[in-house]
Amino acid sequence: MNTDPHIPHSKPCIGEEEVAAASGVIRSGHIAQGRHVAALEDAFARFHGRAGAVAVNSGTAALHVALAAMGVSEDDEVIIPDFVCTAVLNAVRHAGARPVPADIDPQTLNMDTKDVAARITDRTKAIIAVHLFGTPANMDEFMSIGMQKNIPVIEDCAQSVGGSVDGRPLGGIGHAAVFSFYATKVITCGEGGMAIFSSGKTADRARDLRDYDNHDDDTTRYNYKMTDIQAAIAQTQFGRLGDFINRRKEIAERYTGAFASLDVELPCDDPGRIWYRYVIGLKKGRDVCVWIENMLKRNVACARPVFMPIHRVLGLSGYANSENAWSRLVSIPIYPAMTNRDVNHVIDAVKKTTAEVS
Ligand SMILES: *Cc1c(COP(=O)(O)O)cnc(C)c1O
Repeated sequence: MNTDPHIPHSKPCIGEEEVAAASGVIRSGHIAQGRHVAALEDAFARFHGRAGAVAVNSGTAALHVALAAMGVSEDDEVIIPDFVCTAVLNAVRHAGARPVPADIDPQTLNMDTKDVAARITDRTKAIIAVHLFGTPANMDEFMSIGMQKNIPVIEDCAQSVGGSVDGRPLGGIGHAAVFSFYATKVITCGEGGMAIFSSGKTADRARDLRDYDNHDDDTTRYNYKMTDIQAAIAQTQFGRLGDFINRRKEIAERYTGAFASLDVELPCDDPGRIWYRYVIGLKKGRDVCVWIENMLKRNVACARPVFMPIHRVLGLSGYANSENAWSRLVSIPIYPAMTNRDVNHVIDAVKKTTAEVS
């Protein structure tokens, strides 16, 4: 009988500091958007060297207001990765535009630069470059494509806060960047998001759209505001980011050492990456669903790292690299709340499950 504790796929690292931050705001009597939201925005703008930051209530909302503030609307096209969660697809549609998925590079799992260039039309009004699983996307190339065609690039840093490329912070390279503070992300406040901008004017437009109240014109606006309770928790988490990143890296190194001799494909090891997910590729012919079931029998919850690629949602064909990634990749638990005992248990379970014939 298996008596090991159940290890979830994701779990936030929250404790007394977050309790103190949240209860401080509640005791103050001011719980709606206020000075804690402003302080979190300042911290994000400064950390990424950007002109403005706008805190909102989800990563999806951050993408939506960033697109809207950049003037993306009906009849426009926005290029997004095919291998990503549907939040990105939805945000483009919320802005009224048409999402155009691009296939991925099989090594980095991020958008393939050539496929992006090939999908640009006169209607393309933005490129959303996601740093998937914390691995930096090829920003130099996307910025160069954007520059040539006068198309802004939005970095989606929902999985990569604190990451870097050549010493530049991810989120400080594109025309805008978005973050998510959902419970499974690198830092969290339950639900929350942030959009940051290289242009102060664009940031002001996003800020204007966030709140419907106190405007005298007929613009459709939103209620995307973050509360001060969430902001205080997010600030505390942001202060712990360095420790979180180091612990994630430590666990990744344990995994990579332990799995070197297994018949699996190991994840991309970029020096500036964040180990948001540890994603391994099963040998061709292995069934990821069976593998995940067998891991669960050993009390380890794993998952497909992307529930379903965008082309499948849209009923499109092609996208060979994305399709191949989806059919072979599994994501195993990696988060700072894991104990060394948890890590050893996952290693043991991966070794046993991978050795089984399925
Ligand atoms: C989580 C996530 C989002 C959406 O963020 P929410 O806060 O859940 O709305 C967008 N893009 C990526 C890459 C994500 O991982």
